[in-house]
Formats: sequence, structure tokens, C-alpha cells
Amino acid sequence: METQLIIIGAGPGGYEAAVHAAKAGLQTVVIERGPLGGTCLNAGCIPTKCLCHTAEVLESARQSAALGITATDVQFNLAQAMARKDAIVGQLQGAIDALMQSPGITLVRGEARFIDAHTVAVGDAVYTAPNIIIATGSVSKFLPIEGAHAKGVLTSTELLQLDEVPARLTIIGGGVIGLEFAAIFRTFGSEVTVVEFCKEILPFFDRDLAKRLRTSLKRQGVEFHVGAAAKAIREGECLTVEYEEKGRLRTVDADVVLMAVGRGANLDSLNFADAGIEVSRRGVVVDGNFQTSVPGVYAVGDINGLCQLAHAATFQGFAALDHILGRPSPYRLEVMPAAVFTVPEAAMVGQTEEQLAEAGVEYVAHKSFYRANGKALTMAADDGFAKILTDASGRILGAHILGAHASDLIHEVAVIMQHDGNISEITTTVHAHPALSEILLAAARH
Ligand SMILES: Cc1cc2nc3c(=O)[nH]c(=O)nc-3n(C[C@H](O)[C@H](O)[C@H](O)COP(=O)(O)OP(=O)(O)OC[C@H]3O[C@@H](n4cnc5c(N)ncnc54)[C@H](O)[C@@H]3O)c2cc1C
Repeated sequence: METQLIIIGAGPGGYEAAVHAAKAGLQTVVIERGPLGGTCLNAGCIPTKCLCHTAEVLESARQSAALGITATDVQFNLAQAMARKDAIVGQLQGAIDALMQSPGITLVRGEARFIDAHTVAVGDAVYTAPNIIIATGSVSKFLPIEGAHAKGVLTSTELLQLDEVPARLTIIGGGVIGLEFAAIFRTFGSEVTVVEFCKEILPFFDRDLAKRLRTSLKRQGVEFHVGAAAKAIREGECLTVEYEEKGRLRTVDADVVLMAVGRGANLDSLNFADAGIEVSRRGVVVDGNFQTSVPGVYAVGDINGLCQLAHAATFQGFAALDHILGRPSPYRLEVMPAAVFTVPEAAMVGQTEEQLAEAGVEYVAHKSFYRANGKALTMAADDGFAKILTDASGRILGAHILGAHASDLIHEVAVIMQHDGNISEITTTVHAHPALSEILLAAARH
């Protein structure tokens, strides 16, 4: 079959690009070997956020006495929480399935493999197109240590299928995935220990924010060992994680260990070499238009290793499509918000203080605190801050928010940064009162 565009992978990188391509009039074949929605829908963003919300409501119920509510005998049922998560995933899979029935899209179920740079086979069927977008995602990484594959050492995908709350959960890796699970399972009742190699959790986030989030999670009962290198996982009556901290070998016992040391491009799922597509250890090599070493073949999302976020995959897909269609791309992908859905939430866009200092850029930090915001106090959510980083002229270089709804608030700044705007855009915009977004207004005024 000859078509105009082949998309391999129906995660957020692939399926959203397919919808836009079909709208632009391209006959598009989408090939997917697994459930629609990719990692994001089936084992990532959506299922974790279902459990984050369950944890948040559970904790609110437990804390509700201060609000004058008597919630006695608050019970938690993991099976019901998991069933709700699965139902939401199923609902969204149905929505993507409906999108894949749109005119111009042909959905092919099965595993794709390259025959040559512009020809892809799925079983006995062969598809040819002048343009191909590869959006085949990533897989969990494992530390190369003894016991890394022992029974009870799980990936995030497996943790999302647990049928009982582990009494002791040790998480190797204090990045976004590790911390979200730490917060979830601590609230569900596990004793949670996080072992992180770097000196601070969330190594890609602003240090100030990461430190304060660690303090908040510690207060909730999560134990942290930062600057600690996991060395081995021993199997006995339980799992024992050995780690080196400050030059001393220490251990922590666990019933379940989550290996959350990052994800790597899914380089084994396609025969890139047969198509002449260059890959590096990071992922498929792409240029600024997400085009690979083969003209007409693009790679977007986790597979190129540039930014492992669902919305990055989606917008890279849009940018690749714009290049295919020969139209200018309006997106500024360096303005890439990121969020951590712990309680409190964390969110960022642009540069951190550490990045600016390292680059020798002079900056001003404008900061305000949740405890000074009326709405935050009414919500009993006074933990956190907002920090906007600008140059001397007020041009916004980055923003970092820790606190309730940080993942929503960050977009006010993202929109301004998208237009290279100044912090005065915030101070001159009327903000409704009382609203959490007044925290940004207060920061901008400082
Ligand atoms: C626990 C967890 C939580 C996360 N939470 C968030 C979050 O809150 N926010 C966020 O932005 N990101 C989050 N992420 C990251 C996000 O899920 C990924 O960045 C995103 O899914 C990448 O999209 P993608 O389209 O590149 O790949 P994927 O979503 O992985 O999709 C790739 C698809 O390609 C298919 N495929 C692979 N090989 C083939 C083949 N040969 N033939 C046919 N099909 C193939 C796969 O079956 C899959 O469906 C999370 C990830 C995890 C693991």
C-alpha cells in the first residue's frame, strides 16, 4: 500500500500527529503494536495521576478534622483505586480509538519493521510513504548492579499493577517517577525510602524547589538518602538494598523495590540500521526539525531522547509535521513546562538558577510564598512558593512553582515566555481574587 505518511507508534507523539496530518489532508497510516495511547496513557502520565489523586483525597480525608469535618474510619481500598485507574485508561483508549477512525487515518495493529528507509512491513503487509514519523517511545532502565532483576524489583509499569500495598517500598531514583510513587505509596501506608545518587532529588529541577519538596515529603514520612549510590539488591526473606552514602556501606530492607533510574530510547523495537537511520546511545539522532539522518524520516518523543515528556512528544510531532508540509512551525520547544504530581506539586518552565549561574547570566529572582496567599490558606495548602527568574530588564528566563496546582499555574508564565515577554505582563494583568494565581502576581511585584 502506498500512502503519504506512515506513523509508527500511537503514543502522544504518534497519535496526535496523525490527527493533525489527516486534518491537513495527508493519507496517514498509523502502526501500533500495543494498546493505543502508548506509555503515557497505559503506564505513565494518566495511571499515575489517577493514583496521585486517590492519594491526595485520602490524605485530605485524614486531615479533614481541621476543616470541621469528622471523617472517622477512613478506609483505603487499593483494588478499587486500581479499578478506577483502569476504567479511566479504558475510557481514554476509546477516545483515541475513535480519533483513529477519522477520515484519512488507517490504523494498523501490529509490530512495524523497516524494509528500507521508506518502506515498513507489518506481518505480510507492506506500506510505503515519502514521509515516516517514528514515535516508538522508551523503556525503563535498570542499574547494572547485582540483584537488579531479582523477584520483587519492579519497574513503574509493574508497580501500577500491584494488588497489595507493600509494607516497605524502597525506590532507587529520586527523579519525577520515583517521587510520584514515593508520595502515592507513603499515603497508601507503605514505609517508603528513596535512594538517590545525586546530591539532591529532581536533578533537572531548580535546587531550591527540589530541596523544599524533599523537606515536605520527609515531613509526610518519606525517608531520603541523597548522594547515595545503590550497589546491590540482595534476596533473602526480603529484599535488601545496599547503598553507599558518605563513604559507608548501608542497607535498607524492602518488600518491593522500584527501579526508577530513568528511561532509555526504545532502540530495540525497530531495525533502524536496515533503514540507514543513525542512532546514538541517547536515541535516534535528529536535527532541529526532528528529521533523522534519512530525509523524510522523522523521530519524535522519547525515541530521540531529547525530552521525556508526553507534551514534548506531541509538540515535536506537530513540528515534524509542519516540516513535512513545508510550513513554518510556530512552536518554541525550549519553553517546555514540566511538572511533578506530588503533594505539594512542583512545576517549572525555562531555566533554573543553577543553569543561569553556570552560564554566567545575571538574573533577578522574584519570589512569593503560598502562606501569604488568601486562597491557599482557605484550601489549607500553605506549603510552597513561586519564583520567577528574569534578567535586569524583566524578561522572563524561567519560573519554578512548588505548591497546590503548580502544574496549572506554570502556564501563565509559559505563555509569556512563548512570546519573549516581560514580567510586567503579569503585574499589569488583573488577577481575580482570591486565586492561587495571585501568588505569581505577588512574586512578579517583588
Ligand atoms: C510512570 C510514568 C509517569 C509519567 N508521567 C508523566 C507525566 O505526568 N507527564 C508527562 O509529560 N510525561 C510523563 N511520563 C512520560 C511519558 O509517558 C512519555 O514521555 C510519553 O509517553 C512519550 O510519548 P511517545 O509517543 O514518545 O512514546 P510512547 O508513549 O511510549 O508510545 C510509543 C508507542 O510505540 C509503540 N511501538 C513501539 N515499537 C513499535 C513497533 N515496532 N511497531 C509498532 N508500534 C510500536 C508502543 O507500543 C507505544 O504504544 C511518564 C512516564 C512514566 C513511565
